[in-house]
Amino acid sequence: MRIAVVTLFPEMIREALAHGVVGRAIQGGVLKVECFDPRAYTSDVHRSVDDRPFGGGPGMVLKVEPLRAALRAAMNVMPGGSRRVYMGAAGRQFDQGVARAALEWPGLVLLAGRYEGVDQRLLDAEIDSEWSIGDYVVSGGELPALVVIDALARLLPGTLGCAESAGQESFSDGLLDWPHYTRPAELGGVAVPTVLTGGDHAAISRWRLREALGRTWLRRPDLLERRDMSELERVLLEEFKATTGKA
Ligand code: SAM
Repeated sequence: MRIAVVTLFPEMIREALAHGVVGRAIQGGVLKVECFDPRAYTSDVHRSVDDRPFGGGPGMVLKVEPLRAALRAAMNVMPGGSRRVYMGAAGRQFDQGVARAALEWPGLVLLAGRYEGVDQRLLDAEIDSEWSIGDYVVSGGELPALVVIDALARLLPGTLGCAESAGQESFSDGLLDWPHYTRPAELGGVAVPTVLTGGDHAAISRWRLREALGRTWLRRPDLLERRDMSELERVLLEEFKATTGKA
């Protein structure tokens, strides 16, 4: 997959993407990420990319011209049909469903804002969608863009060592992940659930599904309301509820 990021801080993107599974995906050619700095597309001596807001008020607003030139330069190197997304707190909530849909696109150009944001005329004319990473405001679009890139990279075949890992994570199946344990089997008098050390793989799968359902019921009931549950899932959820005494 190819992703371009239009950002005033390309080093922030490059540095963060040099590590871990995403770094390996880039080295292995599974993912290509390029940065386009709007400052490189300015013509004035100060290389200015921002200006005071019309109507007054604090902060600065990113100007149309350098952003437009950087976005168009990015689109020129991306495959046809690539989409342009502005990372903005007022956008649609980015989630696993949005990530999966974006995998179908030939390429993705992410625009990272700064300061008070971006001149609305640029967003209206040059942007296809706006995505938010949550109901809070961070100082720039670089961290949100990195969140998007990381979430997409994990879904690309070849990024994760174990092919099944992404399919078993929270939200992949509309449920939260089950609890995980590792050695030692007993720590400070607290033992891991015995089913996990018994070697019965069918029982382990059943326990994991029950815990995933239970956790989702406790923490994110909205996810269960949208779920078309199988008969087995109903039985397992009732079992879980019985163990909590909240049935
Ligand atoms: N004035 C803007 C507002 O109230 O929504 C906040 C601007 S913020 C300080 C600077 C930049 O950070 C934005 O242009 C946007 O690119 C990015 N940003 C901030 N919060 C975000 C969020 N929750 N999701 C995505 N991007 C965000």
